[in-house]
Amino acid sequence: MRLIGDYHTHTTYSHGKGSIEDNVKIAIKKGLKEIAICDHGPGHYLYGVKEKNIPLMKEEILRLNDKYSKDGINILLGVEANLIGFDGMIDMDEKLIKHTDILLLGYHYGIVPASVGDGMGFYIKNPLTKHLRFGREKSMALNTLAFIKAINKYPIDFITHPGAKVRLDIKELAKEAAKLGTALEINAKHGELSVESIKIAMQEEVEFIVNSDAHISEDVGSINKSLERIKEAGLPLARVKNMKQ
Ligand SMILES: [Zn+2]
Ligand SMILES: [Zn+2]
Repeated sequence: MRLIGDYHTHTTYSHGKGSIEDNVKIAIKKGLKEIAICDHGPGHYLYGVKEKNIPLMKEEILRLNDKYSKDGINILLGVEANLIGFDGMIDMDEKLIKHTDILLLGYHYGIVPASVGDGMGFYIKNPLTKHLRFGREKSMALNTLAFIKAINKYPIDFITHPGAKVRLDIKELAKEAAKLGTALEINAKHGELSVESIKIAMQEEVEFIVNSDAHISEDVGSINKSLERIKEAGLPLARVKNMKQ
Protein backbone atom coordinates (compact mmCIF):
# COMPACT_ATOMS: atom_id res chain seq x y z
CA MET A 1 0.00 0.00 0.00
CA ARG A 2 1.26 3.47 -0.74
CA LEU A 3 0.11 7.03 -0.36
CA ILE A 4 -1.36 8.49 -3.57
CA GLY A 5 -2.08 12.01 -2.40
CA ASP A 6 -1.50 14.39 0.49
CA TYR A 7 -4.64 16.49 0.94
CA HIS A 8 -3.60 18.69 3.85
CA THR A 9 -0.54 20.91 3.37
CA HIS A 10 0.09 24.52 4.41
CA THR A 11 2.04 27.32 2.71
CA THR A 12 3.10 30.90 3.37
CA TYR A 13 -0.49 31.93 2.52
CA SER A 14 -1.20 30.99 6.16
CA HIS A 15 1.62 30.02 8.53
CA GLY A 16 3.42 27.39 6.50
CA LYS A 17 7.06 27.97 5.62
CA GLY A 18 7.11 26.99 1.93
CA SER A 19 5.41 28.24 -1.23
CA ILE A 20 2.79 26.29 -3.17
CA GLU A 21 5.48 25.36 -5.69
CA ASP A 22 7.85 24.15 -2.92
CA ASN A 23 5.14 21.77 -1.66
CA VAL A 24 4.41 20.55 -5.19
CA LYS A 25 8.09 19.81 -5.86
CA ILE A 26 8.36 17.65 -2.71
CA ALA A 27 5.12 15.86 -3.61
CA ILE A 28 6.60 14.98 -7.02
CA LYS A 29 9.85 13.88 -5.39
CA LYS A 30 7.92 11.55 -3.09
CA GLY A 31 5.93 10.05 -5.98
CA LEU A 32 2.52 11.46 -5.08
CA LYS A 33 -0.14 11.76 -7.79
CA GLU A 34 -2.08 14.53 -6.07
CA ILE A 35 -1.52 17.30 -3.55
CA ALA A 36 -3.97 19.73 -2.01
CA ILE A 37 -2.92 23.16 -0.76
CA CYS A 38 -5.15 23.81 2.24
CA ASP A 39 -4.25 26.88 4.25
CA HIS A 40 -6.14 27.96 7.35
CA GLY A 41 -9.57 29.51 6.82
CA PRO A 42 -9.92 33.33 6.76
CA GLY A 43 -11.64 33.39 10.18
CA HIS A 44 -8.38 32.80 12.00
CA TYR A 45 -7.20 36.21 13.16
CA LEU A 46 -3.51 35.33 13.36
CA TYR A 47 -2.74 33.29 10.31
CA GLY A 48 -5.93 32.73 8.33
CA VAL A 49 -5.59 33.01 4.56
CA LYS A 50 -6.71 36.41 3.28
CA GLU A 51 -9.98 36.14 1.35
CA LYS A 52 -8.55 38.14 -1.54
CA ASN A 53 -5.72 35.61 -1.88
CA ILE A 54 -8.00 32.64 -2.52
CA PRO A 55 -8.64 33.48 -6.22
CA LEU A 56 -4.92 34.30 -6.61
CA MET A 57 -3.97 30.91 -5.19
CA LYS A 58 -6.37 29.32 -7.66
CA GLU A 59 -4.65 31.09 -10.55
CA GLU A 60 -1.24 30.05 -9.30
CA ILE A 61 -2.39 26.44 -9.00
CA LEU A 62 -3.76 26.45 -12.57
CA ARG A 63 -0.39 27.70 -13.77
CA LEU A 64 1.52 25.10 -11.72
CA ASN A 65 -0.77 22.32 -12.95
CA ASP A 66 0.27 23.25 -16.49
CA LYS A 67 3.93 23.40 -15.55
CA TYR A 68 4.05 20.09 -13.67
CA SER A 69 1.45 17.90 -15.40
CA LYS A 70 4.36 16.20 -17.18
CA ASP A 71 5.46 14.96 -13.74
CA GLY A 72 2.12 13.22 -13.24
CA ILE A 73 0.90 15.43 -10.40
CA ASN A 74 -2.47 17.05 -9.96
CA ILE A 75 -2.68 20.09 -7.66
CA LEU A 76 -5.89 21.01 -5.85
CA LEU A 77 -6.88 24.16 -4.02
CA GLY A 78 -8.53 23.67 -0.67
CA VAL A 79 -8.98 25.49 2.62
CA GLU A 80 -8.82 24.10 6.15
CA ALA A 81 -11.93 25.94 7.25
CA ASN A 82 -12.58 26.75 10.91
CA LEU A 83 -15.68 25.98 12.87
CA ILE A 84 -16.80 29.39 14.18
CA GLY A 85 -20.29 28.75 15.54
CA PHE A 86 -22.08 26.03 17.45
CA ASP A 87 -24.85 26.16 14.84
CA GLY A 88 -22.29 24.64 12.46
CA MET A 89 -21.15 27.90 10.89
CA ILE A 90 -17.70 27.89 9.25
CA ASP A 91 -15.47 30.72 8.01
CA MET A 92 -16.06 30.05 4.30
CA ASP A 93 -19.08 31.24 2.34
CA GLU A 94 -20.46 29.93 -0.93
CA LYS A 95 -18.55 32.48 -2.98
CA LEU A 96 -15.20 31.43 -1.50
CA ILE A 97 -16.05 27.72 -1.59
CA LYS A 98 -16.60 28.05 -5.37
CA HIS A 99 -12.87 28.63 -5.87
CA THR A 100 -11.91 25.44 -4.05
CA ASP A 101 -11.59 21.84 -5.21
CA ILE A 102 -11.64 20.40 -1.70
CA LEU A 103 -12.91 21.61 1.66
CA LEU A 104 -11.55 20.62 5.07
CA LEU A 105 -12.96 21.50 8.45
CA GLY A 106 -11.13 21.68 11.75
CA TYR A 107 -11.43 23.11 15.24
CA HIS A 108 -8.80 25.70 16.07
CA TYR A 109 -8.22 28.40 18.64
CA GLY A 110 -7.53 31.89 17.34
CA ILE A 111 -10.76 32.13 15.39
CA VAL A 112 -13.16 35.02 15.60
CA PRO A 113 -16.38 33.42 16.85
CA ALA A 114 -19.68 34.02 15.03
CA SER A 115 -21.35 35.42 18.18
CA VAL A 116 -20.67 36.24 21.84
CA GLY A 117 -22.35 32.98 22.87
CA ASP A 118 -20.10 31.05 20.50
CA GLY A 119 -17.10 32.88 21.98
CA MET A 120 -18.11 31.67 25.46
CA GLY A 121 -18.15 28.11 24.17
CA PHE A 122 -14.84 28.34 22.33
CA TYR A 123 -12.78 30.32 24.80
CA ILE A 124 -14.32 29.68 28.21
CA LYS A 125 -16.42 26.52 28.40
CA ASN A 126 -14.33 24.20 26.23
CA PRO A 127 -10.95 25.11 27.78
CA LEU A 128 -12.48 24.76 31.28
CA THR A 129 -13.67 21.23 30.65
CA LYS A 130 -10.06 20.19 30.12
CA HIS A 131 -9.54 20.69 33.83
CA LEU A 132 -13.02 20.34 35.31
CA ARG A 133 -15.35 17.40 34.93
CA PHE A 134 -18.34 19.67 35.46
CA GLY A 135 -20.01 20.38 32.11
CA ARG A 136 -17.66 18.12 30.19
CA GLU A 137 -20.34 15.78 28.81
CA LYS A 138 -22.57 18.67 27.82
CA SER A 139 -19.83 20.54 26.02
CA MET A 140 -18.71 17.39 24.24
CA ALA A 141 -22.28 16.90 22.99
CA LEU A 142 -22.47 20.54 21.82
CA ASN A 143 -19.11 20.33 20.03
CA THR A 144 -20.12 17.12 18.29
CA LEU A 145 -23.46 18.59 17.26
CA ALA A 146 -21.68 21.66 15.85
CA PHE A 147 -19.55 19.44 13.59
CA ILE A 148 -22.59 17.38 12.58
CA LYS A 149 -24.45 20.57 11.62
CA ALA A 150 -21.46 21.86 9.68
CA ILE A 151 -21.03 18.73 7.58
CA ASN A 152 -24.75 18.83 6.80
CA LYS A 153 -24.54 22.49 5.74
CA TYR A 154 -21.31 22.56 3.75
CA PRO A 155 -19.64 20.25 1.20
CA ILE A 156 -16.88 19.14 3.58
CA ASP A 157 -14.62 16.39 2.27
CA PHE A 158 -13.03 15.53 5.60
CA ILE A 159 -12.66 16.66 9.19
CA THR A 160 -9.08 17.42 10.16
CA HIS A 161 -7.57 15.93 13.33
CA PRO A 162 -10.96 15.13 14.97
CA GLY A 163 -10.62 15.37 18.73
CA ALA A 164 -7.51 17.58 18.75
CA LYS A 165 -8.09 20.82 20.71
CA VAL A 166 -11.70 19.80 21.34
CA ARG A 167 -13.58 16.96 22.98
CA LEU A 168 -15.81 15.09 20.51
CA ASP A 169 -18.06 12.06 20.58
CA ILE A 170 -16.22 10.18 17.86
CA LYS A 171 -18.87 7.48 17.52
CA GLU A 172 -21.68 9.96 16.83
CA LEU A 173 -19.50 11.99 14.48
CA ALA A 174 -18.35 8.90 12.56
CA LYS A 175 -21.97 7.72 12.14
CA GLU A 176 -23.08 11.02 10.61
CA ALA A 177 -19.90 11.43 8.55
CA ALA A 178 -20.47 7.95 7.11
CA LYS A 179 -23.99 8.95 5.97
CA LEU A 180 -22.72 12.09 4.25
CA GLY A 181 -19.51 10.68 2.77
CA THR A 182 -17.29 12.95 4.88
CA ALA A 183 -14.02 11.26 5.85
CA LEU A 184 -12.20 11.48 9.18
CA GLU A 185 -8.54 12.38 9.09
CA ILE A 186 -5.76 10.45 10.78
CA ASN A 187 -3.40 13.42 10.98
CA ALA A 188 0.36 12.77 11.13
CA LYS A 189 1.21 16.00 12.94
CA HIS A 190 -1.45 15.93 15.65
CA GLY A 191 -2.12 12.76 17.62
CA GLU A 192 -5.74 12.60 16.39
CA LEU A 193 -7.49 10.52 15.44
CA SER A 194 -5.85 8.64 18.30
CA VAL A 195 -5.57 4.85 18.36
CA GLU A 196 -8.55 4.71 20.69
CA SER A 197 -10.62 7.02 18.45
CA ILE A 198 -9.75 5.03 15.31
CA LYS A 199 -10.99 1.89 17.07
CA ILE A 200 -14.30 3.60 17.86
CA ALA A 201 -14.74 5.19 14.41
CA MET A 202 -13.92 2.01 12.49
CA GLN A 203 -17.02 0.35 13.89
CA GLU A 204 -19.02 2.69 11.63
CA GLU A 205 -18.90 2.71 7.83
CA VAL A 206 -16.95 5.96 7.74
CA GLU A 207 -14.00 6.52 5.42
CA PHE A 208 -10.58 7.58 6.66
CA ILE A 209 -7.87 9.73 5.11
CA VAL A 210 -4.21 10.20 6.11
CA ASN A 211 -2.37 13.48 5.67
CA SER A 212 0.86 15.13 6.70
CA ASP A 213 -0.57 18.54 7.71
CA ALA A 214 2.85 19.74 6.54
CA HIS A 215 3.82 23.26 7.63
CA ILE A 216 7.25 22.91 6.04
CA SER A 217 7.53 21.59 2.49
CA GLU A 218 9.87 18.71 3.43
CA ASP A 219 7.04 17.19 5.47
CA VAL A 220 4.70 16.83 2.48
CA GLY A 221 3.81 13.14 2.15
CA SER A 222 5.21 12.22 5.60
CA ILE A 223 2.52 10.11 7.20
CA ASN A 224 4.49 7.54 9.19
CA LYS A 225 2.99 8.66 12.50
CA SER A 226 -0.52 8.07 11.07
CA LEU A 227 0.48 4.63 9.82
CA GLU A 228 1.77 3.64 13.26
CA ARG A 229 -1.58 4.48 14.85
CA ILE A 230 -3.51 2.74 12.06
CA LYS A 231 -1.48 -0.40 12.64
CA GLU A 232 -1.95 -0.28 16.38
CA ALA A 233 -5.71 0.19 16.01
CA GLY A 234 -5.95 -2.65 13.49
CA LEU A 235 -7.62 -0.53 10.81
CA PRO A 236 -7.38 -2.17 7.35
CA LEU A 237 -5.49 0.16 5.00
CA ALA A 238 -8.15 -0.47 2.36
CA ARG A 239 -10.43 1.81 4.39
CA VAL A 240 -8.05 4.75 4.00
CA LYS A 241 -9.18 6.53 0.85
CA ASN A 242 -5.80 7.94 -0.22
CA MET A 243 -3.83 4.71 0.17
CA LYS A 244 -3.65 2.46 -2.88
CA GLN A 245 -2.18 -0.96 -3.58
ZN1 LIG B 1 -5.57 22.07 11.82
ZN1 LIG C 1 -3.60 22.06 9.13
